[in-house]
Amino acid sequence: MTPPEVAVEEVDRRSETRYQTQDPAEIEILPGPSAPLFGTVLDVSRSGLRVALQNRISRGEHVKVKLHRNVIFGEVRYCRPVPNGFQAGLKIQDLVRPPGRQDEHIADDPLSLYAVGKGLSVAEVIDMREHLAHCEACRTRLARQQEALNPGRKHRPPLPGRANG
Ligand SMILES: [Zn+2]
Repeated sequence: MTPPEVAVEEVDRRSETRYQTQDPAEIEILPGPSAPLFGTVLDVSRSGLRVALQNRISRGEHVKVKLHRNVIFGEVRYCRPVPNGFQAGLKIQDLVRPPGRQDEHIADDPLSLYAVGKGLSVAEVIDMREHLAHCEACRTRLARQQEALNPGRKHRPPLPGRANG
């Protein structure tokens, strides 16, 4: 009996906002080969994916998730029945990217899609989260975008000291 790994996620909650997606995915239980399970990635958090699928998969199983242009390796954290199938939470362990793109700064278009919270693919969201985690410049740009989109709402101000209220 292993204890649930909830504590880790609690600590990291600030960065655990979920990004909604509708990406089709093909899931293979490892070690393969196994018949692929077809599902949809519903959302992406910094460390995980939530996937809708027709079949139950077991907690602790290792899976390979094939997306449009990327492959994610992960571990099943839970799988629960829902009205039309199952929903599984996967912990992301590795993302295999197509070759060619290095760690560039995030372009304006994808950055605004990120700020809006829709329109990006699962792999793009994961890439951006990784980049944002270590790039102050892009985090600041994102905060500005979010402020522009939600003028009434308070996000962490990029310039401390200018807060009024
Ligand atoms: Zn950057």
